Amino acid sequence: MSQKPPLRSLRCPHCGKPAIATADNAFRPFCSERCKLIDLGAWLGEAHRISLATPPDDALDPSDGEGLAPKPAESQ
Ligand SMILES: [Zn+2]
Repeated sequence: MSQKPPLRSLRCPHCGKPAIATADNAFRPFCSERCKLIDLGAWLGEAHRISLATPPDDALDPSDGEGLAPKPAESQ
């Protein structure tokens, strides 16, 4: 009949489940690696969305580059 008292616990910011707040929990303040990765992924997703704001340059076709930029034939 010896029930261990709960370790210092906090709530996982992602799922709200109790998470262990000691060095034993490598995923603090999250309850598990999954929650940590999901939360991290959400942050990275935001960053990716910002970088993807620039549309790809489909208009530039390297195979059709001839004659696009004529060299200035100025002789001095
Ligand atoms: Zn969680």
